[in-house]
Amino acid sequence: MCGIIGVSNIENASRVAMLGLHALQHRGEEAAGIASYDGQNVHIIKNTGLVDDAISAIQVAELKGSTAVGHCRYSTTGSSNYKNIQPFLVTHKKKRIAVAHNGNLTNTEELYKKLEEEGSIFQTTMDSEIIVHLLVKTKNGDLKQWFSNVLSQLQGAFSLIFLIEDTIVGARDRNGFRPLSIGKLDGKYILASESCALDLLQAEFVREVEPGEIVIVKGDKLESVFMPGTKEAKRSYCIFENIYFARPDSDIFHDNVYQVRKRLGAQLAKEHPADADFVMAIPDSGNYAALGYANEMKMPFEVGIIRNHYVGRTFIQPTQLMRDFRVRVKLNPIRSVLKDKKIIVVEDSIVRGTTSRSRIEALRRAGAKEIHMRISCPPIKWPCFYGIDFPSKNELIASNKKVKEIADFIKVDSLEYLSLEGMLSVMNESGNFCDACFTGNYPVAIPTNKSKYLLE
Ligand code: AMP
Repeated sequence: MCGIIGVSNIENASRVAMLGLHALQHRGEEAAGIASYDGQNVHIIKNTGLVDDAISAIQVAELKGSTAVGHCRYSTTGSSNYKNIQPFLVTHKKKRIAVAHNGNLTNTEELYKKLEEEGSIFQTTMDSEIIVHLLVKTKNGDLKQWFSNVLSQLQGAFSLIFLIEDTIVGARDRNGFRPLSIGKLDGKYILASESCALDLLQAEFVREVEPGEIVIVKGDKLESVFMPGTKEAKRSYCIFENIYFARPDSDIFHDNVYQVRKRLGAQLAKEHPADADFVMAIPDSGNYAALGYANEMKMPFEVGIIRNHYVGRTFIQPTQLMRDFRVRVKLNPIRSVLKDKKIIVVEDSIVRGTTSRSRIEALRRAGAKEIHMRISCPPIKWPCFYGIDFPSKNELIASNKKVKEIADFIKVDSLEYLSLEGMLSVMNESGNFCDACFTGNYPVAIPTNKSKYLLE
């Protein structure tokens, strides 16, 4: 998963992009980069780490110009190495094109093979590079026609922002898997993955880029065109953006994430009430559903675990000891709240089950007497090929175990999940979501080679 931002016609555009990336940090913590155009040259800086570590204040001052594109990365295709950091910048016939991509293409292998046959040489192992190869191979007269021709060859999930000198092009795939919003700051356009970035910049939220739409921003003018095949495509907004991924202060898919999560919690309470002293969340991801659950149950809501916000990622080591340490240092239960209590613990989802298991163990150590866990989505049984890093079926606990077996593994007294119907019933446009991770009904054909590293 990734966060993307584009800024048009604003002085020191790279600073604006940098600030915006801070609000999108949750979408990708591995690496970040910004490219800008100053009327003559393109400047680019990218590096590993969080936005502040990847790009220093001194460096951002070197990214001159009034057009910029930025990216923060969580790898879902290609390894986490320097070459794969975005924006990805190429030069073709003296034209420089930078691209920032969120989502996963599903016809990567076919396109890659075809391009290689035709003589393309690839620098990275990212599906995003394919897009610029297609761009430079296609006749580029009118921008609208050019991008329509190229982007309609892509299948799968993509929200994209391009910088082509002083023009910013934004696009969203025809199914609309990933969000992308349009904002305005003093009459100047900003595109961003989520509206929380616009709030931070005190830009007004104009609207979302619609599925299949390509917006071309030059100066203060925005033009729009739809890719061929948009009408026929089934809208498939990623439901997991609402459940976990997006920030609760963002409006995506024509709804507010915080309100959606509260409604999920309320629905969960209707379906699976329990008797307890209070309701609590696994912070932060479970907070909003827990609030909705407690309100619906008219039960007290307590904060039973405190999150440490100062935990960096750099010390994380791939050893069990370090992983266990990470779980403990991040969240600490409050003994005085939990001791001898019967509690309902709400979490947004269970993926592998391993973190949930350690959280529950910590609650027990802090003295909780009875633990009833409630999950504000159905069991995740199917991998995602559209940009969420859900591993193979054998790593997804609900793919291999029944609910009772998961409850035994996590060591809770009871475990209940929200139903698929219940989840969809609280969505604003319930027919327009991709629920493949719960149902296996993939709205776009999935790749035959399913590896994240298929281009390596
Ligand atoms: P676990 O109990 O190990 O399955 O961890 C569950 C928590 O991790 C929930 O809050 C999930 O929403 C969160 N999570 C979100 N995305 C992922 C992911 N791609 N892989 C693993 N856990 C995730």
